[in-house]
Amino acid sequence: MLNLVFLGIQGSGKGTQAGLLRKNYGFRHINIGELLRQNMSQKTPLGLKITDYMENGELVPDEYIFSLIEENLDKNAKGMILDGFPRTLKQARYMEENIPVNYAIYFDLNEEIAIKRLTARRVCRNCKKDYNLIIKPPKSDLTCDECGGELIQRSDDHKSAIERRINIFKQRTKPLISFFEERGMLVKIDASESPEKIHNSIVRGTGIEKK
Ligand code: AMP
Repeated sequence: MLNLVFLGIQGSGKGTQAGLLRKNYGFRHINIGELLRQNMSQKTPLGLKITDYMENGELVPDEYIFSLIEENLDKNAKGMILDGFPRTLKQARYMEENIPVNYAIYFDLNEEIAIKRLTARRVCRNCKKDYNLIIKPPKSDLTCDECGGELIQRSDDHKSAIERRINIFKQRTKPLISFFEERGMLVKIDASESPEKIHNSIVRGTGIEKK
């Protein structure tokens, strides 16, 4: 059982890599942002409380995040990827006390490239597969290759929310790099490389093959 945290600026390819680890090694992908968006679109009691935070690119209060994590932890999974959690030092301390994590993968990418990627990101309204009009385009314009669904822009992929999310990343989430480094858990990868190269770096850096 190997549990990983994915840490990185928005648009650094965390979702793509989680997909590859799930496909090749059976990891369970816990994507906090996606779980929050599902609650929002289903207008659950949680969804109604978090809509404003999400659409403005603000962090959702910790108490909601902690209960979502508890509901979605899979104790029987072969390995788990926590994608988008922890995002603050308080969340990292909660993680340390409650979840056995082996490594934090830091997807290192400069801000300009991240902004370009986010602006070109599209996601299938139906199956949620994500595309990038520049680096991972769909075969036919604005239709999902997998299910034929309509490709749309996320409601927080507009300029002011992108800027706010990136600022929050720099102020609140980047300090976690030293948190994990001090604990000998940090694996830093160059997120400007191709998806295949990044996948290989993660496998090598964490020794996944040996498990
Ligand atoms: P993401 O899909 O990871 O870009 O997350 C989308 C949005 O979900 C963020 O901008 C936050 O509003 C919220 N969110 C995701 N993860 C967290 C977290 N760990 N703590 C607080 N808010 C979060």
